[in-house]
Amino acid sequence: MTALPLVFDAPRRGKPPRHLADLSREEARAAVVELGQPAFRADQLARHWFRGVTDTARMTDVPAAVRETLAEALLPDLLTPVRTLSADGGRTRKTLWRLHDGALVESVLMRYPDRATVCISSQAGCGMACPFCATGQNGLTRNLSAAEIIGQAVAAAAAMADGEVPGGPGRLSNVVFMGMGEPLANYPRVRQTLRALLAPAPWGLGLSQRSVTVSTVGLVPAIRKLTEEGLAVTLAVSLHAPDDELRDTLVPINTRWKVGEVVEAADAYAARTGRRYSVEYALIRDVNDQPERADLLGRLLAGKRAHVNLIPLNPTPGSPWDASPLPAQREFVARLRAAGVPTTVRDTRGQDIDGACGQLAAADRVEGVPTVAVPAPSLEPPVELGAEADG
Ligand code: SAH
Repeated sequence: MTALPLVFDAPRRGKPPRHLADLSREEARAAVVELGQPAFRADQLARHWFRGVTDTARMTDVPAAVRETLAEALLPDLLTPVRTLSADGGRTRKTLWRLHDGALVESVLMRYPDRATVCISSQAGCGMACPFCATGQNGLTRNLSAAEIIGQAVAAAAAMADGEVPGGPGRLSNVVFMGMGEPLANYPRVRQTLRALLAPAPWGLGLSQRSVTVSTVGLVPAIRKLTEEGLAVTLAVSLHAPDDELRDTLVPINTRWKVGEVVEAADAYAARTGRRYSVEYALIRDVNDQPERADLLGRLLAGKRAHVNLIPLNPTPGSPWDASPLPAQREFVARLRAAGVPTTVRDTRGQDIDGACGQLAAADRVEGVPTVAVPAPSLEPPVELGAEADG
């Protein structure tokens, strides 16, 4: 009998090939020297890659004779676009990427009048098993490498720069880690990604700290570690319930780190960075949208450097849960307001292309167009939420 056709082979899961973006500048320069080239070629390769140039023919500052060798060794193709879906007249674009081992991840680019945000994945799949989240249902496939994560942002930046998104050439301004995966469960690679997002050219995208948002289920030790990094990126905590009893069921990792500990870690982050954190709360009909829970959440967060982002649940196929109806949403907002907690309710962008992935629909909770927004009552100006409007 002949061998089974390739299509029946299980995709090989494993570490992606080494890439320039996985390395520090020093390591990359050393790698180039090892290939018999002057160290500065690493800077040249970095400049091209971070600008989205993958065609070696365009790397004209690198001698033609060594381009292929260098690119093969340090710029392997890691992300192959499988499909791109558009919505909002092309201003929202979701890309499905295939990785070297067949794993699939998604990223979503959203262009607004005043900014462009990409929502990126940090893992293929996710191990956190939140029951309302599409990605959580299939478990974790693997961590992405730094280059695989950064590559999603680079592709978005290039699409903006090249004028591929209606509105003319523009700049990628924001990155949110709200695609697939739990970023703080892939800490070293996410740390390296943050470094690259913030670093100026040629070794990065030169984004500002406040325009980068790391969203987490609340891995307390990792939040503490992030606090120690001395970065001031925006922290978003996926709370979804103010009480442990309910949160244990919605965000299973809560059985390990409780609501109180998560909020305490976020408070410490805010104290250290001087930045307000976001509390994400998917409003699920008759599950976590009761007026009492709004009051409880209000008491939990009153006086803290926290901003609540409410999002009506994006129902996922097969799930019994639905979004809270409008009156319940309004009541929830009103009660948080009454407690003095800044709160926004957000529309989702590109709902029609989100299909099975509830997570990606949630991406613009930080950056999206709010339907209801309350100005911060206290000390600071409103956080970096773009155009806010009273609801
Ligand atoms: N693991 C990270 C990033 C996940 S995606 C985290 O949990 O924060 C970003 C946000 O989308 C999280 O707040 C997540 O809880 C939320 N989310 C997931 N599925 C959703 C759905 N079906 N509807 C609304 N929000 C959802």
